[in-house]
Amino acid sequence: MEPSSEEWFARAQNVIPGGVSSPVRAFRSVGGTPRYVAHAHGSRITDTEGREYVDLVGAWGPMILGHAHPGVVAQVTRAVAASASFGAPCPPEVELAEEIARRVAPAERVRFTSSGTEAVMTALRLARAKTGRDVVVKFAGCYHGHADSLLVAAGSGVATLGLPDSPGVTPGTAQDTLVLPYGDVAALEELFAARGSEIACVITEAVPANMGVVPPPLGFNARLASITREHGALLILDEVMTGFRMSAAGWWGIEGATEGWQPDLFTYGKVIGGGMPLAAVAGPAATMDLLAPAGPVYQAGTLSGNPVATTAGLATLRLCTPQVYAHLDATAGAVRRIITEALTRHGVIHQAPQAGNLFSFFFTATPVRTYDDARTQNTSAFAAFFHSMLDGGVWLPPSAYEAWFVSAAHTDDDLAVIESAAHSAAAAAAKV
Ligand SMILES: *Cc1c(COP(=O)(O)O)cnc(C)c1O
Repeated sequence: MEPSSEEWFARAQNVIPGGVSSPVRAFRSVGGTPRYVAHAHGSRITDTEGREYVDLVGAWGPMILGHAHPGVVAQVTRAVAASASFGAPCPPEVELAEEIARRVAPAERVRFTSSGTEAVMTALRLARAKTGRDVVVKFAGCYHGHADSLLVAAGSGVATLGLPDSPGVTPGTAQDTLVLPYGDVAALEELFAARGSEIACVITEAVPANMGVVPPPLGFNARLASITREHGALLILDEVMTGFRMSAAGWWGIEGATEGWQPDLFTYGKVIGGGMPLAAVAGPAATMDLLAPAGPVYQAGTLSGNPVATTAGLATLRLCTPQVYAHLDATAGAVRRIITEALTRHGVIHQAPQAGNLFSFFFTATPVRTYDDARTQNTSAFAAFFHSMLDGGVWLPPSAYEAWFVSAAHTDDDLAVIESAAHSAAAAAAKV
């Protein structure tokens, strides 16, 4: 018989730090043992003990079409049979870059990496090379991967000098990262007035969705674009989560393209690899052509643009039709409504922020506009809610600080499972 999740996790802890390859998977913030996954198809994920769940994580975003979509599997199978990697140029990377450039006008050039973290690292290097300045401005609660200079999120209040969030990040590195409260235009203007000539770039999540979902205030991203331009700094729009999930042209396609602003660089990941390790930095040729070998800024990767990952990404993007986006929006609305009704019926204090098809739940009465607000939530109530949902056959992110993800594969049957699980889960949350 297949070992249980408990047995796998015990073995894992002997050979993998904390038993996991990425921290949130360990269930530390909700307690209990992570379930080991055997396989997943469409909207359903099955653990090693044969229990089936409705998946609302979608591998943290990439599985926008659902798991093992036949159209993607066929293309990937064909690609891997022709060798998993060449370490040489190949047609699908060109086609995928063309597909991105066609959808996002300012993304004239695309450089592929294997992770969102690397894409962001490259974007920062480009911004510093282009401006000859060192300082990076980020917002508290925005996640941009695990590069040293962005593991600085602390610093509530006004423009705080960064302190490293993780041992191993040097104070020297942290010093060049300034952290502002999300959405605080006054703090941003003050910072630029004082230190504008030192600032290489501002980086922001197109929609913050790694502290729970915090929709950008009206005009905020546009103001980031204008203030960076006024001061000769760059705006990096991190669309690793939102890119090609929110629309065919990402969140920028919804907001920037209609409001008439554009960032200097985009970062993409998650959806563009369809579940394979693939990410990208993209932007106008004048900046992107600073990258080697066109220019002097070094960046490279043994597996970058490999044929399997770029084939998976291309197949995924091509299958994301307008009908798919309409289905994602409708499904996100339906799940949010179902959970809201259950929580309301059981008197659980909550709010359900939503931007496009991304949403999450905060168990707090404080309106959440910043990371500090998000941290007022009752995480024990979320843990109780989470475990009850899991027992009821619904696979949620094991953290109160993560967005929920719907896919093209979710059906009314899935909504019914979610609805029947939600009642006991809301009751469990109400007791904490
Ligand atoms: C996931 C994520 C990253 C990091 O991407 P990895 O592939 O995990 O390195 C960066 N930025 C945002 C907004 C993300 O959601």
